[in-house]
Amino acid sequence: MTARKVRVRFAPSPTGPLHIGGVRTALFNYLFAKKHGGDFILRIEDTDSTRFVEGAEEYVNDSLAWLGMAVDEGVKEGGEFGPYKQSERKDIYKKYADELIESGWAYYAFDTPAELDALRATAEAEKRNFAYDMHNRMQLKNSLSLSDDEVKQRMDAGEPWVIRFKMPENTDVQTNDMVRGSVTFNTNTLDDKVIFKSADQLPTYHLANIVDDHLMEISHVIRGEEWLPSVPLHIMLYKALKWEDTMPTFAHLPLILKPTGKGKLSKRDGDKGGFPVFPLNWQLEDGVAAGYKESGYFPEAVNNLLALLGWNPGTEQELFSIDELVESFSIERVNKSGARFDPDKAKWFNQQHLMRKDNEELSLLFNDELNERGVVADISFVEQIVAMVKERVNFVSELWEQSFFFFEAPSEYDPKVVKKRWKGDVPAFMGDLVTELEKVDNWVADDIKAVIAAQIEAKGLGFGLVMNAFRLALVGGGFGPDLMVIAEMLGKDETISRVKAAVENIG
Ligand code: GLU
Repeated sequence: MTARKVRVRFAPSPTGPLHIGGVRTALFNYLFAKKHGGDFILRIEDTDSTRFVEGAEEYVNDSLAWLGMAVDEGVKEGGEFGPYKQSERKDIYKKYADELIESGWAYYAFDTPAELDALRATAEAEKRNFAYDMHNRMQLKNSLSLSDDEVKQRMDAGEPWVIRFKMPENTDVQTNDMVRGSVTFNTNTLDDKVIFKSADQLPTYHLANIVDDHLMEISHVIRGEEWLPSVPLHIMLYKALKWEDTMPTFAHLPLILKPTGKGKLSKRDGDKGGFPVFPLNWQLEDGVAAGYKESGYFPEAVNNLLALLGWNPGTEQELFSIDELVESFSIERVNKSGARFDPDKAKWFNQQHLMRKDNEELSLLFNDELNERGVVADISFVEQIVAMVKERVNFVSELWEQSFFFFEAPSEYDPKVVKKRWKGDVPAFMGDLVTELEKVDNWVADDIKAVIAAQIEAKGLGFGLVMNAFRLALVGGGFGPDLMVIAEMLGKDETISRVKAAVENIG
């Protein structure tokens, strides 16, 4: 048998902004496809019109594009297995539902929502669960329990119906999940799921999903673990439709857990912990749900951090570009147990990817920020600064607070540093230093340092004390890179003017 071409799909329902759990599912599909020279397909599963959310499909497209996951076939990209949006495939599904009725694998059911609600309520009152299943289907209103005449009458009268899958009794359904290994389900615990509805002439998720995976020649289904309970129904559908031979192989990915490790990561956790759980900003009625992009993350950092939520390379390596991920990825190394999300680690990944970027690229990014602040600077100057401070930041947006003093004089002085460093003989010394600094001809770090050191020596002050006061004058606090380099880069006039300002303004 020739090996089957790897074709995987990411199949989101456009019911809201894609959560990072969904993004990780997309990423693992993408990595698996690229690793095996296969196709990465994007299918929009929008058969449930009641849950449709405007803008959600576009959000998926924008998110994948930002993260660099190129889609081989999809709504926008087209492809020979289209359409790739289920609402545009409406005419395809009915025939398969009919086929299942004819072969006895499915039946019509006429129970109204109100009747089913009443049965549910009674069951609840008796502390039982209600399920429409093999145990009670003959007591309910369907084409198995009613006579052919009555079924016909109801249908002719235009009564709404659904088609339910007739789950066989006491059958073991087994699968070899690529993540979980051999998993067996017994059908006795399963209900008769609705697979098609007359009201909108549309299939439900289960039928549409199986039909499309089959017609689109999907080889592997990689999705979140919340779909594991659907596997026995899906396998039974493949059997019933006689597609078992080409049934895809399943892989169910572990949950992404809250930072505490207890329960699934939610939007609320992000709100509480101040970290994004969405790839891009998403507009809400009363604000914005924060996205990784707008929070200053690099796409490669997001891919990297998501890849390591549930997968490990089997080595000590933690930093990966997307190409390196493709190279190293293997579905066998995906864990079964949930992966705890660590917001600090997420920042760390960004910092590491920031460090990996060359100074030229970073300086262009930082320059955009500078322009937004109305600061215009020579790009080679910006590049020098980036090189000096980049290891102190996690995000490009933090470069400003580490380097603003290169672009403007401090407007205030950190009171704690003032108290500790600007005392005793220091103010007078700094006043005298101005005269000495004015004498420096060649304004370079070493010469500036030599002059200050000579002064310190002459006046018998502590080197550290003076240097910290000098730093306070130049940057406004106790932070920043090499002080003499700062002075050199600021230039003679600006340095002297800042020392003068400090002497005048710190009281
Ligand atoms: N439409 C489903 C979802 O929203 C797809 C599940 C699957 O991949 O089979 O997650």
